[in-house]
Amino acid sequence: MLPEFELSCSEFKAAGLELTREQYDKLDIYAKFLVEYNEKVNLTAITEPKEILRKHFIDSIMLLKFVNIPLNSSLIDVGTGAGFPSVPIKIFRPDIRLTLLDSLNKRIDFLKQLCDKLEIEAEFIHGRAEDISKLPEYREKFDFSCARAVANMSLLSELCIPFIKINGLFAAMKGPNEDISLGANAVEILGGSIETQQEYKLFDESRKIVVVKKISQTPPKYPRNSSQIKKKAL
Ligand code: SAM
Repeated sequence: MLPEFELSCSEFKAAGLELTREQYDKLDIYAKFLVEYNEKVNLTAITEPKEILRKHFIDSIMLLKFVNIPLNSSLIDVGTGAGFPSVPIKIFRPDIRLTLLDSLNKRIDFLKQLCDKLEIEAEFIHGRAEDISKLPEYREKFDFSCARAVANMSLLSELCIPFIKINGLFAAMKGPNEDISLGANAVEILGGSIETQQEYKLFDESRKIVVVKKISQTPPKYPRNSSQIKKKAL
């Protein structure tokens, strides 16, 4: 399904990354299952092998180039969809303690079957981030949270920052066009501080990773419920 091993390695290399045979075999199983499952449940618009390699797998792994994740850290992927960015990350970093969260149960069902096939251990949560982060067992419990293609920086901060511990990091994977400064107020209210904004090229497309550090506790009234969040950005 994926381009053959040598070609896939050179694609990774072009992005400044390395790929082992074992990682490739897992990504290949992932790609096949994604495309097969996508015929009955909508998971992705990207189904061409080279595009899956570049826009899903390499794009996801790029996070590891920009964010240093210490051994055995906990990570929650908010609005993970078909597992991006965190399932490819887990293939490259099996030590990470992974939690996958999505509001659509059909995606969680897919992820459970996928992780079973890949022999990946993870916790699966079906629910909305703004509800789940209110629960004591998940609030300020993670070393890292991440999200790709879920919401603008202000809304995303409200969904992701409550999950992380003080000194934890939240990594937002973004396209080139969003004005991140529009989320700065939300980041501050929620107890965060924007550490870095790194722009890079994913082949011919521009991307950005914004890293927020949590410097103080998130006030208990956040996140607001989803209708309040939609009505007015912080
Ligand atoms: N992160 C994946 C990716 O990059 O391919 C999926 C992106 S998809 C555009 C957005 C995902 O976020 C969907 O699977 C949706 O169900 C989920 N989502 C949106 N709002 C959410 C919320 N408040 N809590 C949990 N999941 C949410």
